[in-house]
Amino acid sequence: MLRQPILLLSRSDRVKRLVATLPVTSGIVTSYVPGETTEAAVAATADLVDADLKITLDFLGEDTFDVEQADATVAAYVELLRQLTTKGLPRHAEVSVKLTAIGLLLPDHGHKIALENARTICRAARNAGTTVTLDMEDHTTTDATLAILRDLRKDFPETGAVLQAYLHRTEQDCRSLAYEGSRVRLCKGAYAEPESVAFQDKIDVDKSYVRCLKVLLAGEGYPMIATHDPRMVEIASSLASRYGRAQKTYEFQMLFGIRPEEQKRLAASGETVRVYVPYGQEWYGYLMRRLAERPQNLSFFVKSLISKR
Ligand SMILES: Cc1cc2nc3c(=O)[nH]c(=O)nc-3n(C[C@H](O)[C@H](O)[C@H](O)COP(=O)(O)OP(=O)(O)OC[C@H]3O[C@@H](n4cnc5c(N)ncnc54)[C@H](O)[C@@H]3O)c2cc1C
Repeated sequence: MLRQPILLLSRSDRVKRLVATLPVTSGIVTSYVPGETTEAAVAATADLVDADLKITLDFLGEDTFDVEQADATVAAYVELLRQLTTKGLPRHAEVSVKLTAIGLLLPDHGHKIALENARTICRAARNAGTTVTLDMEDHTTTDATLAILRDLRKDFPETGAVLQAYLHRTEQDCRSLAYEGSRVRLCKGAYAEPESVAFQDKIDVDKSYVRCLKVLLAGEGYPMIATHDPRMVEIASSLASRYGRAQKTYEFQMLFGIRPEEQKRLAASGETVRVYVPYGQEWYGYLMRRLAERPQNLSFFVKSLISKR
């Protein structure tokens, strides 16, 4: 019930100004975001690698309407990849990129600028020996994201995509992307979407998630099963064995700070588990989406806001 209002607040500048004054060290933020700097992100990566986990790093930011900010985001990814290389981590860590953070929404030539910026990051990732996955944002960007993915894959076929099971279109998108070498991260979807494009009830989203899992696991690509839902994890495991998939031909993915014990349990059972590690100063939108998924955390959040006063 609270999900839609919280997601709407995630786009409010007024609330953002209030919440953004929270120090990153406040409990609720650090439970989801290990830090604001590249160094903090690399240190968190090294700790997760020690726990036998893989990583994908996200430099936080989205909905950029400013060319310089888009350029700064590209530079941040290039620097991140440099620091990962220095520490010998690219074998374990890739990067996740939001196209609206690197120019997709810019009024003049946004599509072209985002594509060129994504190419720069893909090139830096390849030079470092790792890969890029394009995050999926709200449904108004789905077509553009998939078009940019198609272009990028001509030169960088290792580039991954995200599909969101709450969208009506996604089962078909899974069919289109279930080809050899195609890395597809399947998540439920985190944005406030209208009934015209997305399932609204959890049960319908879960059923769609299972249908999409079947398409991806039966297909030729590399499915990345991104969920914390114990039922989805169990169903994915049994579908993987039904379709004769060996453990290293797919992976599980979870967000930093969510069900860390389950992440370790799955890794210990031989599964590849990748943790999505967001970092940077622009944590507001990300945090609000996590709160929307788990309104129980709201009281914790409001206490953090009150105690800073
Ligand atoms: C690696 C990864 C990448 C993602 N990338 C994208 C993307 O590009 N685009 C996009 O729209 N969405 C993305 N998401 C978010 C995703 O769409 C969901 O919003 C999110 O994962 C919650 O859905 P769930 O499958 O975990 O199931 P849910 O049914 O929401 O949750 C299942 C269980 O997980 C636990 N849980 C879930 N959320 C939280 C939380 N915030 N805090 C604490 N416990 C929690 C609870 O135990 C809950 O009962 C990504 C998720 C992951 C794991």
